[in-house]
Amino acid sequence: MKVGFIGLGHMGAAMAANLVQAGHEVTVYNRSADKRRALIERGAREATRVADACRGEVVITMLADDNAVSEVVFGHDGLLATLAPQAIHVSMSTISVALCKRLGSAHAANGQRFVAAPVFGRPDMAAAAKLFIVPAGDARTIASCKPLFDAMGQKTWPIGAEPSQANLVKLSGNFLIAALIEALGEAIALVGKAGVDRLAYVDLLASTMFPAPSYRIYGELIATGKFEPAAFAAPLGAKDIRLTLSAAESLNVPMPLASLLRDRFVRLAAQGGHELDWAAIGGLAAQDAGEGQLPPVSIHTTG
Ligand code: NAP
Repeated sequence: MKVGFIGLGHMGAAMAANLVQAGHEVTVYNRSADKRRALIERGAREATRVADACRGEVVITMLADDNAVSEVVFGHDGLLATLAPQAIHVSMSTISVALCKRLGSAHAANGQRFVAAPVFGRPDMAAAAKLFIVPAGDARTIASCKPLFDAMGQKTWPIGAEPSQANLVKLSGNFLIAALIEALGEAIALVGKAGVDRLAYVDLLASTMFPAPSYRIYGELIATGKFEPAAFAAPLGAKDIRLTLSAAESLNVPMPLASLLRDRFVRLAAQGGHELDWAAIGGLAAQDAGEGQLPPVSIHTTG
């Protein structure tokens, strides 16, 4: 298929590379031009403006947050202004339910099609084309994007006809992972302080009662205190908890655990943890117990 790809960060670079690898005609755009180079070397075409990535049947966005997606879609020469009628915008970023609804209405008003398709899986899974993709929107539009999803993921789960449902499901999933990170952090701090081998403990958990990849991946990161380099940066995790709470408030769903997690991210940021993986909130319990240290990071100051 002829597809544009906008946003070549940790996730997008690997996903776009897999589209090229699968034989699609891919035109890539990234705000920082240097990140386009590796994709061009692998056979992608370069767009030097957002509009130049919007000439195909489909354009995919994999950007950091609401602000980035809004700029690229609603900005001058953005997706809304340049996509052809019936062309499809596939939004794969983790964004707010509110922005997703706004995107759906704006594209529909312009005769363009829209699918939200957020993903589960970290950059290593993106590189291995093993993402879990959760699209929502019109079923026929989702079906037309199947060759693209197949090139980027190991499984695609259509979740509903209303695109924002996919974003809510994605946010709820990240809320669960953050809760798991906090709970693992507390448990590992407890047994670690008593002298139990932390990695052996994680192996026990992940091999017996909790045989889920997240327990092993995050348990090992917490047990070893390895929070750099970030595969999923703490500010992005904080964003997801904030968006979860915002969706929960608009639906009148109390989520006290999400409020606690929000404070953990605020504490991490206050300590200068901007560059760390979000797993670093799992290191706070050991600090509270007078044990662990976060890796030294530069403290960002203003003024
Ligand atoms: P990332 O490495 O920080 O990349 C962010 C991308 O957004 C970069 O291409 C960046 O461009 C672009 N961007 C940021 N602000 C922009 C703006 N105002 N205008 C234009 N472009 C802008 O993030 P990531 O880890 O790839 O994550 C991307 C999305 O996937 C996020 O919504 C995240 O929550 C979600 N996600 C991440 C993971 C993960 O494990 N990393 C897993 C699942 C989902 P520059 O290069 O110019 O800064």
